[in-house]
Amino acid sequence: MKPAEFIRRWPLVRQLTEGDPLGLGKAVQSSRTQTLEPRTHSADRVVSSVCPYCAVGCGQKVYVKDEQVIQVEGDPSSPVSRGRLCPKGAATKNLVTGASREHAVKYRRPFATEWEELSLDRAMDMIADRVIATRAATWQDTEEDGDQEKVYHRTLGIASLGGATLDNEENYLIKKLLTALGVVQVENQARI
Ligand code: SF4
Repeated sequence: MKPAEFIRRWPLVRQLTEGDPLGLGKAVQSSRTQTLEPRTHSADRVVSSVCPYCAVGCGQKVYVKDEQVIQVEGDPSSPVSRGRLCPKGAATKNLVTGASREHAVKYRRPFATEWEELSLDRAMDMIADRVIATRAATWQDTEEDGDQEKVYHRTLGIASLGGATLDNEENYLIKKLLTALGVVQVENQARI
């Protein structure tokens, strides 16, 4: 390296000549740092989403490259979070890419000690069978109350607890289905 170049790269000289007198910005960047760019720049597309962790429902931008999630960041256009994510939300990329992520339905039979894998179709059929059987076994049509007959048309054998990231449309459909089934115990994590 020539002496002039050596002096030009001296930190104090850079601070004075690069418009960064306090050494808080580009004057203290190494040449290696100057070549780095955020991995979001190489994404093929960006998908808007909602953080799945808690009831706040912060907006997220999911950066995708070669059909793989490469980064998850806060969505500045979200009126809820305005671009911010807490540490849990900022780490949600691992929910998709983490080695411990489950990719199949897990089922543990009553009294079993091991989990077994089910196909999604099989699991959905089992849930439907249980809903139908429980509804039939616990259905309350009417009840005598003194000399009055109270009309219920309900079941107290089924309850529903929704997740925070269900959107308005999903909640509407869930409530509509449950009401049609006579389920009256309907709650959502966002209200708890
Ligand atoms: S980023 Fe944090 S506060 Fe926001 S929804 Fe996710 S877990 Fe909740």
